[in-house]
Amino acid sequence: MRVLIVEDERDLAAAVSRGLRRDGVAVDEAHDGDSGLEKALVNEYDVIILDRNLPRLHGDEVCRQLRAEGVEARVIMLTAAAEIEDRVAGLNLGADDYLPKPFAFEELRARVHALARRSGPARPPVLERAGVRVDPASREVTREGRRIDLSPKEFGVLEELMRAEGGVVSAEALLERVWDENTDPFSNVVRVTVMTLRKRLGEPAVIETVVGAGYRVPEGE
Ligand code: CA
Repeated sequence: MRVLIVEDERDLAAAVSRGLRRDGVAVDEAHDGDSGLEKALVNEYDVIILDRNLPRLHGDEVCRQLRAEGVEARVIMLTAAAEIEDRVAGLNLGADDYLPKPFAFEELRARVHALARRSGPARPPVLERAGVRVDPASREVTREGRRIDLSPKEFGVLEELMRAEGGVVSAEALLERVWDENTDPFSNVVRVTVMTLRKRLGEPAVIETVVGAGYRVPEGE
């Protein structure tokens, strides 16, 4: 899952990023409306956490432009003004949810995960393939009923491969979906993570390398 947080209070943005990263979420930050809009148009996010009161470009305007450009990411708006009119205005602009400040991180976390589950038409709650079962909600992975513990990045890679339903996912796509924009695109993090993931999943191999193209999880016998 990839999330963008647009929030000019840097401490708050950093705290939210840290919290979500612990769940294995790839998080990018922007600290004003302009750069938030730019990132949201360039990258593909599942969820955008959008503060309403932003410098350079107001959150309402960011949201309006995102929808005008056809960006499909789920948007949760943060606002200090808890008046009902503000809430309705935000939803009219195309926000999917709204959270008044101050909020408890756990509340935001729950809503981000709920919105991510709603995004996209074909995202089944539990992914099953080749004897492997991945539950994105509880983040539990089992193979033939045996529980497998994964690091957040290993989980993210496996989740993306399972979602592809046997299709090939390139290393670039994995880097884009599981890591954040600060990751060096020429690093070998994807290769290394796939290697440790394979080790944890055990034999027979679940993840197939398609030379020159990427990785896939074929249907088991
Ligand atoms: Ca603000």
